[in-house]
Amino acid sequence: MTSNHHAHTRYSDGVGEPRDYVEQALREGFSRYGFSDHAPIPLHDMGSMKMAELTTYSRVIGELQQEYADRIRLYKSLEVDYIPEVMNVESPHILEASLDYTIGAVHYVDYLADGQPWSFQRPNPVFERGINTIFGGSTRRMVERYYELVREMVTTHPPDIVAHLDRIKRRNVDGRYWDERADWYLAAVEETLEAVVGAGCIMEVNTRGIYLNETEDTYPTDWIVARAHARGIRLQVNSDAHRREHISGGFREAYRILEDIGVERVYLYDGRGFSAQALDAFKASNA
Ligand SMILES: [Zn+2]
Ligand SMILES: [Zn+2]
Repeated sequence: MTSNHHAHTRYSDGVGEPRDYVEQALREGFSRYGFSDHAPIPLHDMGSMKMAELTTYSRVIGELQQEYADRIRLYKSLEVDYIPEVMNVESPHILEASLDYTIGAVHYVDYLADGQPWSFQRPNPVFERGINTIFGGSTRRMVERYYELVREMVTTHPPDIVAHLDRIKRRNVDGRYWDERADWYLAAVEETLEAVVGAGCIMEVNTRGIYLNETEDTYPTDWIVARAHARGIRLQVNSDAHRREHISGGFREAYRILEDIGVERVYLYDGRGFSAQALDAFKASNA
């Protein structure tokens, strides 16, 4: 009964062929597995997947879907960056890929002085260089801008699934850069959840931080998941695996968080849209 809608392969920044992941998913008893490598980024073709590789990726996943049709439901997706004026889920190359569903993510917040989009995931000195040169040294302004971009994404070009809503916390281990309980931070998160409600997107509970020991819990963190659930946002658990051994990493912890919050169902792609699946079935398989 296990499922995963967000995963990478060597076509972007993951390790191994798509087929390796399918075989692993079968070994672990997955009923559904969705491939969502990083989509090519038109700006200088700077993405980990190049524009020229998209057709091959699309064909390879399509062939696996056919080949394994009677054993597992495989899905073709992409994790699509939202970069204003550069790309979104409605960019021509994304539409042409005829995906089963889209995952939208913000990984870049504005531009460094050299004109390159600033990835807040980069370690120092790049992380602090971005805060200092783009946001005048204000971490708060940087974080607020991140959430503003997430709201802009779901409002103007809504993906089916919003990726790792609070990914911006990645380098904020032990509150090193800001207090995640500060009023301004709660306000930014709440305003963003409201935009997700308005757009009707699914929100993923991403376990990557757990199995990589980046964070103590999920992206987003448990209290944000609870607030999302209270607002009626539909949820699903994804591993965002980049290696075969991680396809179900952190699932036990994530489903426990959902159970503690009182979530009773998750929403999985069914070939046309997303339908509810009782959480009980997942508890049994992830026990
Ligand atoms: Zn991502
Ligand atoms: Zn990802």
